[in-house]
Amino acid sequence: MKNIVIFGAPGSGKGTYSDEIVSRYGMEHISTGDVLRGEIKNGTELGKVAKGYIDNGQLIPDELMIDILAKTYDALPQGKGVIFDGFPRTIAQAEALKNMLAERKHDMGMMVELVVDEETLMARLLNRALEQGRADDNEETIKKRFEVYRNQTAPLAEWFEKEGLRHVFTWKGSKDLMLAEIFEAIDAENK
Ligand code: AMP
Repeated sequence: MKNIVIFGAPGSGKGTYSDEIVSRYGMEHISTGDVLRGEIKNGTELGKVAKGYIDNGQLIPDELMIDILAKTYDALPQGKGVIFDGFPRTIAQAEALKNMLAERKHDMGMMVELVVDEETLMARLLNRALEQGRADDNEETIKKRFEVYRNQTAPLAEWFEKEGLRHVFTWKGSKDLMLAEIFEAIDAENK
């Protein structure tokens, strides 16, 4: 399987669709947010550093994040294809991912972009706060995360476009419809 970068704003469904892709294709999944939350839970030094940024809705510095990503990637079994969820979030991270994969004679595969309007995103995240109690799912931090997404991450879509990897899926009110379209695109890439 080709690698997949799953891309979109907070609450756009990156985790949810990654789980669906994993169960259909048996790929590996790296969620950098989950990796960081695991470090916080385990009380590691990295977790302590990460918590300050996450609780403020800010991004962890690129150098640190790139290092974490490479270590996580190298610990996975090879050959099944990997879904990168929540990484890259900046142009520097995208360039680093491209180089890291090239050094290993792998490539990015394809990018799946989830486009959802901000009102729907906010409603989903506030609902997730009730269900999962994530510390950064409160209205104030969510607004900061949207701003960080708009300023630092959204411009990356053009980067993927130039690389010829971008596939855009716009929310039309149905998860099943989104999934069908995403699966069709993944199947076409892996023919
Ligand atoms: P997520 O679970 O992907 O929404 O990530 C939660 C938080 O973890 C983000 O708001 C950032 O503070 C941090 N984070 C996750 N992935 C990255 C990344 N690739 N670069 C920088 N910070 C990240």
